[in-house]
Amino acid sequence: MAEIVLEGVDKIYSGGVKAVDNLNLRIEDGEFMVLVGPSGCGKSTALRMIAGLEEISAGTLTIGGDIVNDRPPKDRDIAMVFQNYALYPHMTVEQNLAFGLKLRKVAKPEIARRVKEAAAMLGLEPYLKRKPGALSGGQRQRVAMGRAIVREPQAFLMDEPLSNLDAKLRVQMRASLNQLHDRLGVTTVYVTHDQVEAMTLGDRVAVLRDGRLQQVDTPKRLFDAP
Ligand code: ADP
Ligand code: ADP
Repeated sequence: MAEIVLEGVDKIYSGGVKAVDNLNLRIEDGEFMVLVGPSGCGKSTALRMIAGLEEISAGTLTIGGDIVNDRPPKDRDIAMVFQNYALYPHMTVEQNLAFGLKLRKVAKPEIARRVKEAAAMLGLEPYLKRKPGALSGGQRQRVAMGRAIVREPQAFLMDEPLSNLDAKLRVQMRASLNQLHDRLGVTTVYVTHDQVEAMTLGDRVAVLRDGRLQQVDTPKRLFDAP
């Protein structure tokens, strides 16, 4: 687990678009922080900078007390969950869960332990021998989350992970995410354009507009304000 701190962070894309403008945000150790705002407000860019998938144009990014501005994604001890799941179609669920750990040379018994634990947490035990093509959208999304969980990272980063699911599944998955977070307590940064999702999931919600942070507060104080 780790605190994530952004100080004066800018992102200017080649061509001159200022996608993120002087972002100052402290995400506490173990906190579930939601970045919310309309399409194009810069939330994805902010998340991708935390992940190291986009370079920071100005400012400082700290994860667990270390400045990580120039560190590649693999050296940041974070796990990202994508909207499109990014599963390997030719591998079984079990192999998908284990793959990232194999690459990192984690010992086999330890891989087996983590895969078993994640599968139990996510209700994936019946599907371990199946390939992604034989799963429903909700099951695939659970596998994507499982791949992040087995890494036992300092932080989870999630970019609209539920947006490809139908409304009923989204409600179920929100409940699952809340449970997982209660159980694991891992610092999480979660991007969505959906206010209901932001309210249900976030310990705190950061509202972005045109690349700027407008407000950051608990859902209750943000949305129940008179
Ligand atoms: P959001 O996730 O809130 O929809 P984005 O972070 O994707 O917003 O985009 C913020 C702004 O940056 C938008 O104006 C978008 O068009 C622009 N943008 C995003 N990615 C790129 C890119 N790779 N190159 C140039 N401009 C980009
Ligand atoms: P895992 O995250 O399970 O370890 P990989 O080992 O394949 O999966 O990922 C290696 C790196 O590639 C990670 O840092 C991850 O953030 C990045 N990555 C994985 N899938 C994607 C994707 N669809 N788009 C961009 N980057 C990705």
